[in-house]
Amino acid sequence: MPELPEVETVTRTLAPLLCGRRIEQVDIGAYTRCIAAPDPASFAARIAGRMVTNLARRGKFIVIGLDSGDRVTVHLRMTGELAVTAPDAPIPQHTHLVMELSEGDQLRYTDVRKFGRWSLLSPDEYEAFSASLGAEPLDPLFTPEQFRDMLWSRKRILKPLLLDQTFITGIGNIYADEALFRARIHPGRRSHELSEAESVALYHTIRNVLTGALAHRGTTLRNYRDGNGQPGENLAQLRIYSRNAGDPCDECGNPVARLVIGQRGTMLCPVCQALPQNPEVARAPDSSRSG
Ligand SMILES: [Zn+2]
Repeated sequence: MPELPEVETVTRTLAPLLCGRRIEQVDIGAYTRCIAAPDPASFAARIAGRMVTNLARRGKFIVIGLDSGDRVTVHLRMTGELAVTAPDAPIPQHTHLVMELSEGDQLRYTDVRKFGRWSLLSPDEYEAFSASLGAEPLDPLFTPEQFRDMLWSRKRILKPLLLDQTFITGIGNIYADEALFRARIHPGRRSHELSEAESVALYHTIRNVLTGALAHRGTTLRNYRDGNGQPGENLAQLRIYSRNAGDPCDECGNPVARLVIGQRGTMLCPVCQALPQNPEVARAPDSSRSG
């Protein structure tokens, strides 16, 4: 599934192709459930004739701004793809939505697995939608102190917490595993048990893996393509997610492992990311014995 670096790359590659152009018409195919809100007819009617003013990203959503003030949000989920093409180009299989653009091109949405969703939101609806999502990890205003407080105020297992889009947005399985590996933190630990130094380390590894992946235009495992149809080139940068259980850790040489944590497959090095014996004992050996 595309995560922050992939969605940001799609957004950046589509922006020059869409901004300033009018959407003349919206054609929705037989699979109308790709439109989450409002109903498909209203979706098409409110977009037709509107000009695209800007493209942005919020979490894993592409956000298309219109001159009406409405915004179109697109979540690509597993296999959704967007491409701007000439109208006479052959229409690929699994095309569910086509927007006719001024000057003749089409924005086409294909999705083999059909999990992707589109919504059209009024300004108020967009504010509520955005407020329901968590912190943007690459926001310049997002600080290590804020992240530490967020971790300490929850008592949740780290892996599912990092995937929770109401906690922090844009992180999925790939970059959660990479960030925890590089911070040398076991994904099964609880968020409030991290030390200050560990929370700061995790803050930095999250930002580093995301900005590094963005510089390589995202990770293509199978399906992901950017707005120009090009795959990302970040796969070679992955240090843990792309390994198989038993492969040597590229940090310590011991075999890496795959665990299921929070119902998600999770790659880790059991040596580099060892669980602390008992965090309370580690911090205060004398007082813990009396309890
Ligand atoms: Zn290791």
